[in-house]
Amino acid sequence: MMGDRDFRTVIKNAIESVGKELDYKIDLENVNKIHVNEVTKCMRRSYYDRTAPAEPERTRFSDLLGGMFRKLDYGSIPATYDLKNGISLEAQSDMIADDVVMIFRSVSEFPEDPFAKDILYLNACLWIYNKVDGIIVYIDGVGNEASFALTKDKKMFEELVRRVQTFRTLVNEKKVPQVEPSTECSTCQYYERCFGKKKRNERDLVQQILGKDFK
Ligand code: SF4
Repeated sequence: MMGDRDFRTVIKNAIESVGKELDYKIDLENVNKIHVNEVTKCMRRSYYDRTAPAEPERTRFSDLLGGMFRKLDYGSIPATYDLKNGISLEAQSDMIADDVVMIFRSVSEFPEDPFAKDILYLNACLWIYNKVDGIIVYIDGVGNEASFALTKDKKMFEELVRRVQTFRTLVNEKKVPQVEPSTECSTCQYYERCFGKKKRNERDLVQQILGKDFK
């Protein structure tokens, strides 16, 4: 707090406003239009986003990285893929340059391998935009970057399509998907609906994911 003003709250409100503007635009009312982001992240979270939404907690401008690229003139435009069973699959990559599809993600530490949800998202984009090559670019808090290249993979896309069908069925039948414990839980706005308690620290969460105590 400086003077009479709570600048932390001002910044938090600014991040939330910008975050809403930059988020993927998802038609939450239409279960026949499913966004790739809904099935590459925890499907239970996506189910709640559609049926009983709560605002996510946005605390860092760095989380808005991909959305900022999409808003630029050379950012990518949304695209749709017809799954031929009445479902259209929607996605938006962050940028396409020289026929290479790119997504940008902020991280606090560089992973040894790209995160599964980013691989699935990028691979789906390759099918939806009908491209062959893609790159995931991770950027850390001081602006360093690490990149991972990916080539279009059919089996991985078929797996994603199965998740789309499962998600649509669960939404239609009003059945809550199973919990998908991951590090995503620690920042998820639905944590208490899944685990019934106030947020615990990361150590507790890792214990839950591993299903055992550790020293
Ligand atoms: S807390 Fe975890 S399992 Fe529950 S909805 Fe959120 S991400 Fe999914």
